[in-house]
Amino acid sequence: MARIVVKFGGTSVADTARIEKAAEKVAREVALGHEVAVIVSAMSGVTNQLVEYCRTISPMHDAREYDTVVASGEQVTAGLMAIALQKRGISARSWMGWQVPIVSDDVHGKARINDINTPDMIKSLGNKEVAVLAGFQGVTLDNRITTLGRGGSDTTAVALAAALKADRCDIYTDVDGIYTTDPRIVPAARKISRISYEEMLELASLGAKVLQVRSVEMAYKQNVPVQVLSSFDEAIGSDLPGTLVTKEDDIMEQYVVTGVAFTKDEAKVTLVGVLDTPGVASRIFGPLADAAINVDMIVQNISRDGNKTDMTFTLPETDIAKTQEVLKAQPEFKDCEIRVDENVAKVSIVGIGMRSHAGVAKTMFTALAEKGVNIQVISTSEIKVSVLIGREYLELAVRALHAAFGLEKAAA
Ligand code: ADP
Ligand code: ASP
Ligand code: MG
Repeated sequence: MARIVVKFGGTSVADTARIEKAAEKVAREVALGHEVAVIVSAMSGVTNQLVEYCRTISPMHDAREYDTVVASGEQVTAGLMAIALQKRGISARSWMGWQVPIVSDDVHGKARINDINTPDMIKSLGNKEVAVLAGFQGVTLDNRITTLGRGGSDTTAVALAAALKADRCDIYTDVDGIYTTDPRIVPAARKISRISYEEMLELASLGAKVLQVRSVEMAYKQNVPVQVLSSFDEAIGSDLPGTLVTKEDDIMEQYVVTGVAFTKDEAKVTLVGVLDTPGVASRIFGPLADAAINVDMIVQNISRDGNKTDMTFTLPETDIAKTQEVLKAQPEFKDCEIRVDENVAKVSIVGIGMRSHAGVAKTMFTALAEKGVNIQVISTSEIKVSVLIGREYLELAVRALHAAFGLEKAAA
């Protein structure tokens, strides 16, 4: 007998028929004698609709009330999953985040889990009752409902698996594993059988939304074996058919580049004509950091006259208005021109093999040049290279890089 946590994403609980299919998978795990905790997302599209309701009434809504609204989608699916399990003769009950409780900080809309109180749930599991937990939800110490950021049910699942010391955490979604890039963009993408926490963390933070970044961070820290698999396949997690996210040492085959990730969610901002003096970067990026704006790539352009220069950086598109407000509030930048370019995309290659292989960036730049793709900004770390390009070249660039690193050809 094992203790397992299984999570079903939005498309896997999109309607009552899908919920029944998911319940059948849970029933098969229960029949194998496992203790099972199930995490559910809202039905696909529901969270978007709830977000839209808040925006329609007031674009500047109270973040605490936003959380009350958007957390409700998961309540519906948790109750329905419990009913579907009971219909199959399985003892089951639903749990809302506040009932466990899953205690989070009070950063509404993207709260972090601080603590999960497990004794009651462990008792319930011990009585052979399946626990169906609403994903994405937390509660603050002063009893307000929070949500964990979009895609946050992944994090609920991994956090619960860590708290319950589960043997496995199975993430059911609409693809049968983690691929070398989004299979919806590159049909020739290859399924990866095992990937390291570090590589998955980079891929997720660079745009591969198959797992929420924080869920990978938590799995890495707490050493939770996470498996991604399809709820549309007949197989169940105990058959181990998906992609395993695990420690680097557990991976036999290693490639220089493991995957290609991309995002269209960032914009490029240029602050024109700032003084080229010591401290200017800290006076730009300090206030932006204080305003919780996550700046990503940064280039300080060469000063032509030795006096003034331009500073170019990228940040989430959703933070553009706030960025302009923060910069214009500084007397030094009040009169500077701020150029915003939303027509950009970031493409990244990721692989732990880059640590010990030279020439990876060269291959990347050559592949892009051959397709006539102009690179606007470059940033690198030990295991990734990212480039900012025009948005219209995104798919072309992803396909070119995927081919240049032979990702579809190598055997899994
Ligand atoms: P869920 O609703 O189950 O949480 P998501 O939509 O959040 O599902 O994540 C699954 C999607 O992630 C897939 O449909 C796929 O388009 C996308 N995706 C992006 N990058 C990758 C990748 N490298 N491997 C697999 N899927 C990916
Ligand atoms: N329902 C939430 C969302 O759409 C959380 C999740 O699905 O993981 O972002
Ligand atoms: Mg998701």
